Amino acid sequence: MDKFNVENLDLYYGQFKALKDVSIKIPDHEITAFIGPSGCGKSTLGRAILRLHEPTGGKVIFDGENILEYDKQKMKQKRSDMQIIFQDPYSSLNPRMTVSQSIAAPLLIQGVYKANEKDKIQKKVDEMMDLVGLAKRFANSYPHELDGGRRQRIGIARALSLNPKFIVCDEPVSALDVSIQAQVLNLMQDLQEKLGLTYLFITHNLSVVKHLSNRIMVMYLGQMVELAEPKELFSNPQHPYTKALLSAIPIP
Ligand code: ATP
Repeated sequence: MDKFNVENLDLYYGQFKALKDVSIKIPDHEITAFIGPSGCGKSTLGRAILRLHEPTGGKVIFDGENILEYDKQKMKQKRSDMQIIFQDPYSSLNPRMTVSQSIAAPLLIQGVYKANEKDKIQKKVDEMMDLVGLAKRFANSYPHELDGGRRQRIGIARALSLNPKFIVCDEPVSALDVSIQAQVLNLMQDLQEKLGLTYLFITHNLSVVKHLSNRIMVMYLGQMVELAEPKELFSNPQHPYTKALLSAIPIP
């Protein structure tokens, strides 16, 4: 069964309707990419699915239940299953926390460990750093002492520390140096396969989605205009916006 099933989702920012009647099934253990122009609502949709922005209408069915009906407590419990990796690891990390503290924070907030269980926390932090390829010597470093790739590895470790099933990846490499983007993308792809994760991948980068995703949803002005597998979308785009988007890809 597909864990996430978005039905007729609407979202208003004041008078402005940012999402209009969006419905999409997100298949388990696959990478579903959202593409579309800047401001079309990709991030809003990713966040609305996690209730980081509160939708104004529709349903978000997860494991057979509409999570929009959950109270705060129940939603907090569910949060362990659904995480987000942000675009800019520098602004999403607390500058006053070391790498170890940043990775441990979600575990403490969710009550997986108590603050006095120092050995258990350290063991888990070491395990997560190992998983994302962060050398132990960075455990006591602060975000400003690391490069963008390493900072994003912390973001990935934080997201994975609670063993989620579903991760919204909101432009996870676009703030990184081009030379580091491929490393981080490869890491994310390896982890997705190894841990059987479901990714919702938001990006502007068409070559990334072409190679990474199982399905691509094209958004335009807050609506879904096309949904297809990469091969089909790139060879036979249907919507005029998709055609325009693909025709703008530079030929190497
Ligand atoms: P980008 O690729 O530039 O990140 P996006 O497709 O992710 O764009 P969103 O960030 O989801 O687009 O924004 C969708 C629309 O909602 C935009 O017009 C944006 O200006 C508007 N918007 C986003 N957040 C808010 C907010 N908190 N209050 C009001 N309007 C907002």
